[in-house]
Amino acid sequence: MSRIAFIGLGNMGGPMAANLAKAGHAVRAFDLSAEAVAAVVAAGATAAGSAADAATDAEVVISMLPASRHVEGVYLGEDGLLAKIPAGALVIDSSTIAPASAQKVAAAAAVRGLQMIDAPVSGGTAGAQAGTLTFIVGGSVEALERARPVLEAMGKNIFHMGDAGAGQVAKLCNNMALGVIMAATGEAIALGVAHGLDPKVLSQMMAVSTSRSWATEVCNPWPGVLENAPASRGYSGGFGNDLMLKDLGLAAEAAVGTGVPVPLGELARNLYALNSTAGNGGLDFSSVVKLTQRRQ
Ligand code: NAD
Repeated sequence: MSRIAFIGLGNMGGPMAANLAKAGHAVRAFDLSAEAVAAVVAAGATAAGSAADAATDAEVVISMLPASRHVEGVYLGEDGLLAKIPAGALVIDSSTIAPASAQKVAAAAAVRGLQMIDAPVSGGTAGAQAGTLTFIVGGSVEALERARPVLEAMGKNIFHMGDAGAGQVAKLCNNMALGVIMAATGEAIALGVAHGLDPKVLSQMMAVSTSRSWATEVCNPWPGVLENAPASRGYSGGFGNDLMLKDLGLAAEAAVGTGVPVPLGELARNLYALNSTAGNGGLDFSSVVKLTQRRQ
């Protein structure tokens, strides 16, 4: 069992840290939100007063923060966490951030003699709660093997994609496809409903037909189709629209200079931007369906 510092206890980090505590690891947890810390303490973790406090004596430091600027802000600089983490500790960043940002932080960690992997996840909040996440890893094989027992307490699939930043590239590929599929699924169900179809039966048919996907089966965007989907609780919890917007922006940036056209990813990015300007930025990204739903 390891002494683990966990920074960032939101929709994903909260249940991930809770699963580590439940697996018997000694977890010291920090978030800017006291409420988020309290939820993880209830699951067996210890509260820390700052990121540096959480990292005291840590063997493993894990971060699950919103975006590149948060990760760079926490780790880099004279007051940054890399300067405070005990020698020999392993650093795991599971946030979804720009590949270049992941490489920058990993290089700064290496200068301090710390091994670091980027290990963004897939599986959503349900996967985080159930401990069935997929970890998409960039970094050395040696660092991944050190991380493996800790990752296994939070997930069931681990993919090594390459060196530092490669996990982030792969994650962006996944989320670009997911953003497109969610928008397309919502559009299709809206069309069916406008013709008088029952969205539940339509979704059940799609879930065993050629358009089947996570968007139909697990996170269906239509309210009332799946009891446990964010759509059925006012699009609360889940994966925020603005986080998807961020990821599609990162995917578009990653495409620049490669010569690979990403027209659907760009279109989806604009749909999530429109959904954000409609006031739905904080809702689950499946609320993008609101753009195509007919007003009753
Ligand atoms: P979230 O907004 O729910 O949580 C982020 C947490 O980070 C918040 O609790 C916030 O208070 C905390 N935070 C921000 N700055 C901090 C700082 N300096 N120190 C300590 N805590 C700080 O976001 P989330 O949904 O948990 O997502 C986290 C990351 O995981 C994002 O990069 C997201 O793209 C990615 N992700 C999310 C999902 C999902 O379904 N929600 C799925 C896969 C990946």
